[in-house]
Amino acid sequence: MSFHYQDRRLYVEDVPLASIADTHGTPCYVYSRAIIESNFKAYRAAFGRRRHRVCYAVKANGNLAILDVLARLGTAFDIVSAGELERVGAAGGNQQTVTFAGVGKTRAELEQALEAGIACFNVESIEELELLAQVAASRGLIAPVAIRVNPDVDADTHPYIATGLNENKFGIPMADAMDVYRRVASFSSLRVAGVACHIGSQLTALEPIVDAAKRVMKLVDSLAGENIEVDHIDIGGGLGIAYSDESPPAIEAYVRGICQTIDARYEIVIEPGRSIVGAAGALLSRVQYIKQTPRKTFAICDAAMTELIRPALYQAHHNVLPVNVGGEEQVVDIVGPVCESGDFLARDRSLAASSGDLIALMDCGAYGFVMASNYNARPRPAEVLIDGGEVHLARERETSAQLYAGEYRLGQAVRT
Ligand SMILES: *Cc1c(COP(=O)(O)O)cnc(C)c1O
Repeated sequence: MSFHYQDRRLYVEDVPLASIADTHGTPCYVYSRAIIESNFKAYRAAFGRRRHRVCYAVKANGNLAILDVLARLGTAFDIVSAGELERVGAAGGNQQTVTFAGVGKTRAELEQALEAGIACFNVESIEELELLAQVAASRGLIAPVAIRVNPDVDADTHPYIATGLNENKFGIPMADAMDVYRRVASFSSLRVAGVACHIGSQLTALEPIVDAAKRVMKLVDSLAGENIEVDHIDIGGGLGIAYSDESPPAIEAYVRGICQTIDARYEIVIEPGRSIVGAAGALLSRVQYIKQTPRKTFAICDAAMTELIRPALYQAHHNVLPVNVGGEEQVVDIVGPVCESGDFLARDRSLAASSGDLIALMDCGAYGFVMASNYNARPRPAEVLIDGGEVHLARERETSAQLYAGEYRLGQAVRT
């Protein structure tokens, strides 16, 4: 539907990618509003009449235009920093729908989120709990709290994005959870709102998530036995997408699995990021040079690990499509200009590519731009959101001057 070929030219919705490159240059992130909306609506439809809240995980892609698209559909938000909280507000989202996760929330972040009246703090340690209680008490506020428990299940994903094992830094061990909830109940500035878990990202099987939900349900039953009542159960995010030959459960099956495991008394909260925006984005890039070495052929393009770090960081696979089909295929490594041998975007791909050709790295809507860096003094790329035949500039390409705008030569700094 949204990324497709027509007359051997790659389109996103009604717009040829080549025309985006003409107008906005490369590298450039291109997002499809239709795909984002269709994924979000699939979640909502799957829950049907079941009481639920979909909190879009802002960290997957926090561009204001994307948050705006989702806010208009009535999403809630999951954040991991005060910066993301401000983004939600700047995009017209309701900060009072926000769930705040993360192991290292600072005092300033807790204060800001309390003042904003967010829906829930997903607390990940005793010390955080105590600080939150203190900050809320000093303001005469009551903080809504869920304890993020670590259910110790193997999410069977890349180790860097597995979060639900006892060896990970995330959450509070299941064995300690009862005690921590008793602590929550003892603070008059805290209110038990729910229980939370999040076992990892790019999950391609249903079992680990259902397994985690069962363990959380068991905890909730024990809590009820002590008259500690939660209102919601937050199962986190993590549903994977098909980058190559993975076959993750469909959104419907995933939601059904969760609904069948969680008692109908409780509101179900989920925090999807990748499964909403991942397949909605492509990174558009232009091949600069083809370079033959005795061992390999390199297609050196103008995108690099600075724009898309997933291949270097997670050995991730992204499909690469020619923007205009034609020419003879050869096996190439697609690399960028950055001075690192880890700077590759794809390896050993059959691709017809000559210098000057445009390529599209697919499934870059999540953990793409948000993980971009300025290494090698590379300005971050433009982002555009396609809506039918319209091209909306969602973010201007950075300029080199912006990169050093806050820097001072010797003697220039204003003393503070
Ligand atoms: C990263 C994260 C998410 C989103 O994960 P996806 O794999 O993008 O769905 C949700 N909740 C928490 C707590 C996270 O850290």
